[in-house]
Amino acid sequence: MSITPNSVEARDIAYHMHPAVNLRKFEEKGGLVIESGDGVYVYDNTGKRYIEGLAGLWSVAVGFGEKRLVEAAAAQLQKLPYYHSFNYKTNGPSVDLAELLISIAPVPMSKVHFTSSGSEANDLVAKMVWYRSNALGKPEKKKIIGRIKGYHGVTIAAGSITGIPANHTSFDLPLDRMVHTSCPSFPHFGEDGESEEAFTARMLKDLEDLIVKEGPETIAAFWGEPVMGAGGVLTPPKGYWEGVQVILKKYDILLVADEVICGFGRTGKMFACETYDIKPDVLVISKQLSSSYMPLSAIMMNDNFYQPIADESDKIGVFAHGFTASGHPVATAVGLENVKIIIERDLVGNAARLEKTFLDGLAKLAEHPLVDSSRGIGLIGALELTPWEQEGAGAAALAVAEAIQEEGCIIRNIGEAICFCPPLIITAEQIEEMFAIVLRALNKVAETR
Ligand code: PMP
Repeated sequence: MSITPNSVEARDIAYHMHPAVNLRKFEEKGGLVIESGDGVYVYDNTGKRYIEGLAGLWSVAVGFGEKRLVEAAAAQLQKLPYYHSFNYKTNGPSVDLAELLISIAPVPMSKVHFTSSGSEANDLVAKMVWYRSNALGKPEKKKIIGRIKGYHGVTIAAGSITGIPANHTSFDLPLDRMVHTSCPSFPHFGEDGESEEAFTARMLKDLEDLIVKEGPETIAAFWGEPVMGAGGVLTPPKGYWEGVQVILKKYDILLVADEVICGFGRTGKMFACETYDIKPDVLVISKQLSSSYMPLSAIMMNDNFYQPIADESDKIGVFAHGFTASGHPVATAVGLENVKIIIERDLVGNAARLEKTFLDGLAKLAEHPLVDSSRGIGLIGALELTPWEQEGAGAAALAVAEAIQEEGCIIRNIGEAICFCPPLIITAEQIEEMFAIVLRALNKVAETR
């Protein structure tokens, strides 16, 4: 693509610093300008259409161009465009959404606290965990266990719980209080001849060994995505979550389930905690909560988590945390309408019903010579490509992702994997259309080898 002077692409390079790019490469190559969207499709500024195979960043559940969300935002902007939740103030949409979330929570939850991003929410939960330990007179109980390849965001505490080296390197992360246990991805870390059950047992032993080594009295909480997303769509091995919860109970360690990607139907149930029978103390949600039409995230907590924090705030005089946008009424009005749409249109059921079509399609693509295997659950999945040893780590996935984009579909390459997470409104025909594009791209790349 040649970039003409003064075009949006040229001005983007000149003025706009992007996240998650090689900044030097960006200066040469620029970005793809996405101009509009409709359903599962987005359009660039030349009018070319793409299936959004990753729902933006794993988030646009109801698809692009959902009028009800536009109307909900417009109505709230007219009525009260902004108010805060500090100093004993509140607003209707935030209360309505908190009530609705409590009513659909996968386990009994007591309170909802609103934030604007997944990182902010996880960062705040870390602070609340520390605040709570102080409240309980256990100042030594502060360490947090994350997992290698786990992703919980990029702010200082959340980024420290994240277990992806690129998010740490040169940022001086992780903080000392965050430790990481093994990544429970059987396809990646299972040893030759090891059964899935034996792998799970080894993962659980690694976790328990880490707790014992660090000192159980120093460990406050364990963080996990039910299905790891940004680590490469890694589904847990059989018995993993059951075993983790037994260990956490044994050592009095809180469980924080990060459902920023999984929440609101991605795995075929409203929450992946239902899919894997996870009973968290704290649930972190974002993305499909508002279909990302507005920045919105939330922390749901049970009474066991909330009560000591409330006591401590009473002792100090205030829970001295909050953002200007905590419980932003336009964001929560959009979130409320979005969750209502997910329920009314049974988009969770759609994910469950289309799971077979989706996973069978991935399995069929895994027969391609460039592909090693496929995996997934609900409407989230990945193709693991056979690595190109000569070109280096991730080269095959990058080449295939670029070819897929050429052919008219946007997905994400992570490591050696090509990841899929389409809008929940997708149809069986559109899944077929998406995979036909992927097959064409695989064939094109194969021709060049
Ligand atoms: N947790 C998980 C599981 C995520 O996938 C993400 C974002 N991909 C985050 C947290 C961070 O969310 P945000 O980008 O909104 O800060």
